Amino acid sequence: MVDKKAFHNLSYGMFIITSKMPDGRLVGCIANTFQQVASDPVKVSVALNKDNVTAQAVEGSLEYGVSVLSNDATMELIGTFGFHNSLETDKFSDVEYSLDTLGLPWIEEACCANFSVKATEVIDVGSHFLFIGTIEEARTLDAEAPLTYDYYHKVLRGKTPKKAASYLGDLNEDAKDASGEDNSVLEVIADEGEGACAPKYGWQCKICGYIVEMDELPEDFVCPICGAGKDMFERIAL
Ligand code: FE
Repeated sequence: MVDKKAFHNLSYGMFIITSKMPDGRLVGCIANTFQQVASDPVKVSVALNKDNVTAQAVEGSLEYGVSVLSNDATMELIGTFGFHNSLETDKFSDVEYSLDTLGLPWIEEACCANFSVKATEVIDVGSHFLFIGTIEEARTLDAEAPLTYDYYHKVLRGKTPKKAASYLGDLNEDAKDASGEDNSVLEVIADEGEGACAPKYGWQCKICGYIVEMDELPEDFVCPICGAGKDMFERIAL
């Protein structure tokens, strides 16, 4: 028996993985799979979905940048890199960044460290490529503590997109009770709402987790984070 909920006990960080297309276009995505995997020599790895433009860019260039997100990362920043396609969106147009010695973008805002990696091995692990590599350059930034996946889910109320390595299919549906409410979200609300007055209501995007506080959404409402329409929002207590 495989209890999928066991996977919820795995701890992850949150990272913006960047790379460059052959034509020089800068690309990037969100991943929770960057880690150090050996000490002598120091090696790291990241798993990226094969359908991601960033994965294809890394497969071609064998180089990637890693920006370690911190607790002050906004849903707007995460949404820009996590819920859009790098070929359709210039993800760097409204983001502060600099270039490392490989010419890869390092995100300057809401990040506590950056790494530049040269991939030495590419392993096909099914839905994802695992890029193992060596560190070319690294630095720390003056920022908040590193953002964890748990904090992203419970405090920022973020969702796991289908292309993430940790996506578990319909497990989120399993977490819903008969009323259709998401217990994990309600648990957070209950913690925050102790002693509060009458509950307020808002709408949450089922794709990216973005929350808007208003009684009714206009027909033409579009999620500012992932672009989903009104029909992808569900009513929640705030
Ligand atoms: Fe959204």
